[in-house]
This record gives sequence, structure tokens and C-alpha cells, in this order.
Amino acid sequence: MKTARLYYDDSHLMEFEARVVDVRETADHRRAVVLDRTAFYPTGGGQPSDTGTLDGARIVECIDEGDVILHVIQEGDLLPGQQIIGRVDRARRLEHMQQHTAQHILSQALWRLFGAETRGFRIMDRCSEIDVALDQPTDERIAQAVGLANEIVWQDRPIKIDYVSAEEASRLALRREPTRSGTLRIVEIEEFDVTPCGGTHARRTGEIGIIFVRSWERAKRMTRLRFVAGVRALRDYEALNRAAERVASMLSSEREMIAHRLERWIEEHQALAKRVRELEEQRAASEAAVLCERASARADGTKVVAHLFRNEDIEALKRLARAVASRPRTIALLAVHDGESMHVAFARSADLNDDMSALVRRACAQIGGRGGGRAEFAQGGGLCTEEKARDLLDSLARELVAK
Ligand SMILES: [Zn+2]
Repeated sequence: MKTARLYYDDSHLMEFEARVVDVRETADHRRAVVLDRTAFYPTGGGQPSDTGTLDGARIVECIDEGDVILHVIQEGDLLPGQQIIGRVDRARRLEHMQQHTAQHILSQALWRLFGAETRGFRIMDRCSEIDVALDQPTDERIAQAVGLANEIVWQDRPIKIDYVSAEEASRLALRREPTRSGTLRIVEIEEFDVTPCGGTHARRTGEIGIIFVRSWERAKRMTRLRFVAGVRALRDYEALNRAAERVASMLSSEREMIAHRLERWIEEHQALAKRVRELEEQRAASEAAVLCERASARADGTKVVAHLFRNEDIEALKRLARAVASRPRTIALLAVHDGESMHVAFARSADLNDDMSALVRRACAQIGGRGGGRAEFAQGGGLCTEEKARDLLDSLARELVAK
């Protein structure tokens, strides 16, 4: 037997009576119902399935099996022979119908204007995609196609469904070749687009409301357009509106000016970040000079700078160690204690050969911590008291001076 597809003749039919013919399992072991007739559109042609109810049973998906349509039920019980009332989720169907019909119009607009054929279409969660053989896409060309598509929408042209034989179809100016034989279902948007299709369409183009291409990109040697239509365009506009108002208020600016203001703001931010880095380097250099004046020295003149800071920022500590070691014949043994633990940054100038990595590992081992790095610069840390930290640093400095 075949399930009669009521949506073929009336895509606005949302409630219908039918008889349960069979209850069976889908390939992935879900319970599904077969009806003698249905208004539920099954997944196919890039369009997600309808959902809804059959009496009390919740229909979560419909699968096209060729002759029959499987209605996958999530809860509730139905038995063969039972008469039921089916209800299609209206909002979901109308939303999908708007996207699908919009695709016919947009595809025809791209075909008319640029001879670009549509090769793929899918309705996704928030927007839809078409893959078009458009070789030289530009913002202007896409805008031109969107302009034509919306003109067709606003002219509120009627959309007709016809059934024709393959021979009759060959005499029609179809936008794409039929993919099946036998009787063909032809969808005609008056004096604009004629194409074979088994989907659900608006009665008139005005139902679509608006078509908007959000973005485009080159993909698989084609042009991929992401678009929204009807209720989705409204939702998209609402979200963008909220975001634009929020940004405008944060920038104390008119929303038309936010991109310009933000560009300026980012430039200022980059300049400030650069200035902060310069000042930090200057500060490190002058602190290094002060520390070096108080440093102990080896017999060969090598200076050993050892200092324990309290609650100093670790990045600043590392910067300072490097600034100290940028001076000739100098070793920096710097550490910070934050009340619980110690962090060390040891550095030496390039003209020496003391191994800072070995020194850091040895120091950290004494406080049960970890550390490492390179011979010129190393860092690490561990838990210890401030007194222990001071003793450790002093003894390492004495050892290096005595070398
Ligand atoms: Zn269609």
C-alpha cells in the first residue's frame, strides 16, 4: 500500500483524519506508525521533517520510505485499525515552507541574472544554505539577486501545483531537470519559476515576507549562500537589533556609527597596549639599575643580584630578571612570595655560562616545587614560608658570589 500524501495538494493542511495501517520499527529501532494518509512532510529535499501529534502520541520525525511514510512516535500508544486525528506543528511547518519557497525564488533569481544553477540546498537550525554555480560572486551580484527575489515576494505572485507527464514536462521551461520518471509534480511561481518538486510551498510569494542573504563564501568551487526568510529573518533582525542597541549604548553612539566608533576604539586600545609595554620595559630598566647598585660581586666582577619581592606580579618579575640580565656580567636571582608560595625567575647575561635551569631546579627541589627553563633564563616555584624563601635565595646568592 501507499501512504497518500495530503501535503502534495494542500501544504496548509495542519489537521487531518487518518487510519493506522501498521506499527513497526525503524532501521534504528524506534517505534513508527504507518497511516493510510498523512499531512506530515518527511525529511527530504534539504527540508527537515514535520513534527506534531497523532491523537496523544508525539511525532518527533517522519521518514520517507518511498511508498509509505514512517511517523516516529516518542510517547503514547497506537494500534493498527485505529482512527486518529493528526496535527502538524504549524509554526515549524510554516517556517520551513517559507525557507523552502524562498529557495525556489532565490535560485531562479540567480539563474536569470547570472545563469548560475543551484546544486544544493539545506534548511539548518537558524538559516538555510544553497550551493550555486556562480563563478564570480561579489556583494553587488548577491545584492542584485536578493533585490529581484524580494520584488517577486512583494508582488505576491500565486504559486500553483500541477501534475504532468514526462512528455508534457519536456515542453516546459523547467529550471532543473526532473530526477524521477512518471508523473511529475510541477511547482510554478507565476511567470517566474517552473520546477519539479515534491516539497511544501507557500500559496503566494507574499507569505514569505522577506528574503535576506546573511553571508556568502566560496566552497567546493561553488558559491555558498546563507539566507533567512520570513519568520527567521524577523528573529535574526530581532537578535541583531538587540546586539546593535547594546553595543551602541556601550559606546554611547548612534547605531549607524558603531562600526566606525569600534574601529577607532580598537586602534586606541592597540596604541595604549603598546604604550603600556614600553612603560613596563622602562620601569624594569630603572628598577634593574637600582638593584644592580646594591648587588654583591664575584672576584671577577660578575654581579649577583638577589631580591625577594612581596606580592609582585609574576610577569613583572620575569621582565625585571631579564632587564637585570641584559647588563654585562650580571646574574639575577629574583623571587616573589605571596604569603603561601614562592615563585622564582633566574636569569644571567649572555656573556656568562652559569646554568640557571639547573639552579632553579635545585632551588625548587628544596621546597618540594618544580621548575626549569634554559641556561640563560629559568623559572619555577613551590610552597614555603617567606623566611624559608629568603634563606634559600641568600644561600644561592652567596654560593654564586663565592664561585
Ligand atoms: Zn519546492
